[in-house]
Amino acid sequence: MEASKPKYYAGKRETFAVAPRVWGLKTIFVNLFFIANPDGSWVLVDAGVPGSTAKIRRAADALFGDESRPKAILLTHGHFDHIGAVKDLAQEWDVPVYAHPMELPYLTGLSSYPPPDSSVGGGGMAYMAFAYPKKPINIRNHIELLPGDGSVPGLEGWRWLHTPGHTAGHVSFFREEDRVLVLGDAFTTRDAESAIAVMTEKREVHGPPSYFTPDWAAAHRSVEILADLNPEVAASGHGMPMVGHELRRQLDDLVKNFWVVAVPNKGRYVHEPAITDERGVVSVPPPVGNSVPKIVAIAGAVALVGMALSVLGKRSSDKSARRKSKRPYSHNRVASGLHPTVDPDHDDPNGHTNNYP
Ligand SMILES: [Zn+2]
Ligand SMILES: [Zn+2]
Repeated sequence: MEASKPKYYAGKRETFAVAPRVWGLKTIFVNLFFIANPDGSWVLVDAGVPGSTAKIRRAADALFGDESRPKAILLTHGHFDHIGAVKDLAQEWDVPVYAHPMELPYLTGLSSYPPPDSSVGGGGMAYMAFAYPKKPINIRNHIELLPGDGSVPGLEGWRWLHTPGHTAGHVSFFREEDRVLVLGDAFTTRDAESAIAVMTEKREVHGPPSYFTPDWAAAHRSVEILADLNPEVAASGHGMPMVGHELRRQLDDLVKNFWVVAVPNKGRYVHEPAITDERGVVSVPPPVGNSVPKIVAIAGAVALVGMALSVLGKRSSDKSARRKSKRPYSHNRVASGLHPTVDPDHDDPNGHTNNYP
């Protein structure tokens, strides 16, 4: 099968062409990518929202032939909307999943991500953020570390770059030959906080999704690194790909005006980042009080339910001891040994009631 020509499944345009041998697939509101080598072998970059396993498999079959398997799955980062099908697909295809070492705690059940900041952003996406799952998955049996030399397992002519900020172990992928950039959520090509922009697919360079970005200084440096690559094509996790001069102009503008246009005016992580290490979250700044009155009604109701559930859940003396700790925002630190803070086999079905204040 000729890998460079996209085939659309049953006449329905499920995948979209990004560049030669690169295709995107949108799952609800997040993109994942198929990247092929000249010899037809291929990798999957990210794995969509939960519930997209069949859709991804179908798109892979349409592109590369029935029963085709990738050489690897590569993760830009481990947010829930980029790893929805990763466990199923890694098992089914029996392939390794590559990620950056700093992303590992969130992929091996060791730590939850820093809590999202629902006080920032201006639209429905941010308001909904409190309901997003934050529990780490555990794909310990499949996970491998990206090689230190920048090469990309399973792909020729590509290299990976560490682009932290949105998450600590966030990476982007770059093909030097024609300057194609697959960049996860390091920046977006539409306004992720605006529900209207999400629906209308307007292409415009924006910062990373702010409700999930806990280190703005790092995010800024990362955008700078990507702009310095002078990309010809940029394919983001959110929004349609952008190309050429317009892409580079808007990207340069984003670098120049990052603290005005991308960083929220106020918010939990604006002045202080979440501190993480290779074991996960070490500390996070306190939540912003009385932030957005509009969300109080919804979030308040959810918080009440959450509080009731967490009261019910506070059986262990361990937890009450933690509440009295002098490090109220450091409860996720692993003091000694590598004990998971979350038992992935006994996930709280009310996933938004996690340990964070
Ligand atoms: Zn993300
Ligand atoms: Zn995302």
